[in-house]
Amino acid sequence: MSECLFCKIVEGKVPSRKVLEDDEVFAFEDIAPRAPTHVLVVPKKHFDKIADAAEPGIVGRVLLGAARVARERGLEHYRLVVNNGEEAGQSVFHFHVHLLGGRPMSWPPG
Ligand code: 5GP
Ligand code: ZN
Repeated sequence: MSECLFCKIVEGKVPSRKVLEDDEVFAFEDIAPRAPTHVLVVPKKHFDKIADAAEPGIVGRVLLGAARVARERGLEHYRLVVNNGEEAGQSVFHFHVHLLGGRPMSWPPG
């Protein structure tokens, strides 16, 4: 059995608040939201980081999954974030896109 937290969430072995699911993509509410909307969108099939994606299609499907969640919530202004590697802020090594929205956001990031 996978020891990966997000694999367990995809499999339903760890509970989450599911937002979206299709054949390849799963989205759920972040447990510690940084914005009124903070959804994590992940591939069902595990890879650690974007650089480990076996093919480009899955990355596109995850990104478009995030855009679909935003659209369904009526969000026009939002941010998509991929933290790649520990020093960039990645803490869970199952590729994911953060969808953040519902408040103004500053740029550049810290
Ligand atoms: P990262 O730091 O890897 O880019 O993002 C990991 C995200 O996963 C964080 O925003 C964190 O709040 C979220 N997270 C960590 N553990 C859990 C959990 O058990 N359930 C959910 N829904 N989110 C989690
Ligand atoms: Zn995983």
